[in-house]
Amino acid sequence: MFDKIRLMVFPRSVLVGHEVLKSLPNLLDDLSLSGKPLIVTGNKTWNVAGEKVSKMLESRQPELIKVTKCTTAELNSVIEKVESSDIGVILGIGGGSKIDLAKLTAAKKKLPFVSIPTSASHDGIVSSRASIKDGMTSVSHEAVAPTGIVADTSVIAKAPPKLLASGCADVIGNLVAVADWRLALSLKNAPFSSSAAALSEMAAGLILDNVSQIKKMDENAAWITLKSLIASGVSMCIAGSSRPASGSEHKFSHALELIAPGKALHGEACGIGAIMMAFAHQLDWKRIKKSLTEIGAPTSAKELGIEDGDVVEALIRATEIRPERFTIIDNGITREAAERIARVTGVTE
Ligand SMILES: [Zn+2]
Repeated sequence: MFDKIRLMVFPRSVLVGHEVLKSLPNLLDDLSLSGKPLIVTGNKTWNVAGEKVSKMLESRQPELIKVTKCTTAELNSVIEKVESSDIGVILGIGGGSKIDLAKLTAAKKKLPFVSIPTSASHDGIVSSRASIKDGMTSVSHEAVAPTGIVADTSVIAKAPPKLLASGCADVIGNLVAVADWRLALSLKNAPFSSSAAALSEMAAGLILDNVSQIKKMDENAAWITLKSLIASGVSMCIAGSSRPASGSEHKFSHALELIAPGKALHGEACGIGAIMMAFAHQLDWKRIKKSLTEIGAPTSAKELGIEDGDVVEALIRATEIRPERFTIIDNGITREAAERIARVTGVTE
C-alpha cells in the first residue's frame, strides 16, 4: 500500500540583489498583497530600511510597530496592533527578532508576511521557524514561511561584518546537521528527504567554496551568503522541518545560550558547535575551522569571551535540547570525551 504524503510550503517570490528594496511595492502588487501593511521593525532597522519602506508605501497608509526582542509580551503587542488596525500584510524588517515576530504574528492571525532582512546573520530570514525568548529560555516554534522575501544586498552589506560571518557559520553547520540526519535515518529510521539534504549541503558548500570572496565582506559577499541562506531555508521548506539545517551543532548553540546567555550570536555558536560535531562525525572539521577563521567568525571559547568550562558544559547539556531529534551526541557524551573534543579541535585550550 502506497501511503506517503508530504506538504511543502515555499515562499512565492524571492527578490535578492542590489537596491531591490525599491521594488517592494511591485512585489506586493504581484503577490496581490493589497491589504494595509504593518511594518514590524526596531529603532536601528527603522533607520536602515524601515523609514524608506514606510515612505514607499505611503499610499497604503502603513501602520508601524517598533519592537526590541522576540518575547511573548512583544508578540502580544504586535498581535494587538494587527487586530486593532485591520492589517492585511505584515512586513518584518530587521535581523532576527523583528522577522521572527512578524512570522509568528502572521501564523497566529493567518496573514501573509514579507521578510525584509537588514542583515544576513542566520537562515531564519527564509524559514518557517521562529524562536521566542522569555528570560533565559528560548523556544523554537513552527510559524509560516514568508510569502515574499526582499533581501537588498546594498543594505545588508552595510551591516556589521560580524553578522554576515555569523550567517555563514550558521549555514556551514548544515554539513553536521545532514550528517546527524543520516545517522538518525540509519539508527532510528527517522523520516529523511534526500532532496532537502542535498540542497542543505549545497548551501554549506557554497560558503566553503567561496571563502576568498566572502572574506572581503562587500556586497558580493552579502550576495553569496544570501544565496546560501535562502537555499538552506528552502531545504527546510522541502523537509517540512528544520532537520536539514539544525542538528547537534544547533543543540550545542542553544545549550551555550542557556549557560552563557548573550555571549555569542546564534550563528557564531553554531559554527563552533559545527567544528566539534564535525570532529565527532569524522568529517573535515579542519576545513570548517579554517573557513570560519578566514571569514572572521570565532572558533574558540576565548574569541567568544567565555570560559573553556562553558563549552564543555554546553557539549554535555546539548543532549537536553530537543531530545526527540536524534544526533551524534544523543546516546550521551562523557565529560572526558567533551573535554577532549573541545581541546583537540582547539575550541578550548
Ligand atoms: Zn541556525
